[in-house]
Amino acid sequence: MAPIATQLEQVRKRIDKACESAGRDPRSVTLLAVSKTFGPEAVIAAVQAGQLAFGENYVQEGVDKIAALADWAAAQPVPPALQWHCIGPLQSNKSRPVAEHFHWVHSVDRLKIAQRLSQQRPPELAPLQVCLQVNIDGGPNKSGVAPADALALALAVQDLPGLVLRGLMTLPEPSEDAAQMLAVHKQARELLDRLNASGRLYQPLDTLSMGMSADLDLAVAAGSTMVRVGTAIFGDRTRA
Ligand SMILES: *Cc1c(COP(=O)(O)O)cnc(C)c1O
Repeated sequence: MAPIATQLEQVRKRIDKACESAGRDPRSVTLLAVSKTFGPEAVIAAVQAGQLAFGENYVQEGVDKIAALADWAAAQPVPPALQWHCIGPLQSNKSRPVAEHFHWVHSVDRLKIAQRLSQQRPPELAPLQVCLQVNIDGGPNKSGVAPADALALALAVQDLPGLVLRGLMTLPEPSEDAAQMLAVHKQARELLDRLNASGRLYQPLDTLSMGMSADLDLAVAAGSTMVRVGTAIFGDRTRA
């Protein structure tokens, strides 16, 4: 495994190349580095290579890492402004630390959890930026709102004062078949476009969180605006 800085550089090149092939501006795609299961030292190495946005799946692990990195950042000559995204499944009884510590949540899939996050967001912080997780390919064991129910959820979520609705997140079943993967990613992009065309959102959704280490190129081709990349930056995880 090459150093994290080298891996990051390679992922950025992949994103640029995918943008170029798709005729897109490379600045239209944000790289989220998924640091789950890796310790603060891995995050620090990525920050030193210019990465500021990080994704975490597990609430307690994420909160601990956010605290460790805040201490580290405060000791730097120019403290970097890190941005933390919660991308894992949400449980109602663990929503408070998410509302208190993260900047973004990608995995909102029901109104009840959105309401709790909104209520629990400390008023002195900027509103929590949220994406609705959509079960785009209908996988049976997955969280995510059904595409047909996404507009209703979006309309309810956009009224919650502690949240800003930014877009959609998808986590499709991995497939070796690139054409099929691309088709699934395109369905997500079409859903985002349909919601924006409904005329019922206060502000257009500008975020499509889609694509991981294996399929980020296809996701960018289909119109992703944020890719969530773990393995290709930090290496293989020893646990899920
Ligand atoms: C772990 C995870 C990722 C990163 O996956 P890699 O294949 O390691 O890039 C992205 N999104 C979610 C929701 C994840 O749980």
